[in-house]
Amino acid sequence: MSVEPAAAHRESTPPRSASRQTTPAFASPQTKQAAPEERPPSTQPARSPPPRKQLSIQHLPLIYQASGGRQLCRMCRERKKKINLSLPVTTFPLDATWSELADHVREMHPSGHDRLVAMSPKEIQEMKLRLQ
Ligand SMILES: [Zn+2]
Repeated sequence: MSVEPAAAHRESTPPRSASRQTTPAFASPQTKQAAPEERPPSTQPARSPPPRKQLSIQHLPLIYQASGGRQLCRMCRERKKKINLSLPVTTFPLDATWSELADHVREMHPSGHDRLVAMSPKEIQEMKLRLQ
């Protein structure tokens, strides 16, 4: 009574000749350009002095308005309106030098001067558009 299964144990051992390991060629490490930009956390002191900004010719139309052959200081005009209608409004001839124009702002409107020099070129552009 020997019941042999039809399929006998056929242990076919595969030939162990080819034992060469072929490493795939596409296993290169993926080095994409993932350079992390290190942004320093905003730990700067709140009152870091700006790097010597100055008024530029860019600011000119923001400060002076050509009117009647003169350049009229907008800040003087604002001050006159807000504070005292008897205050003078400084005007300059159209051929005034840039240093004259800038000096007036620096000396007479220091806070306005600071505000202007702190503006970005984009802000200057936007303000110009508003003034037109
Ligand atoms: Zn002025």
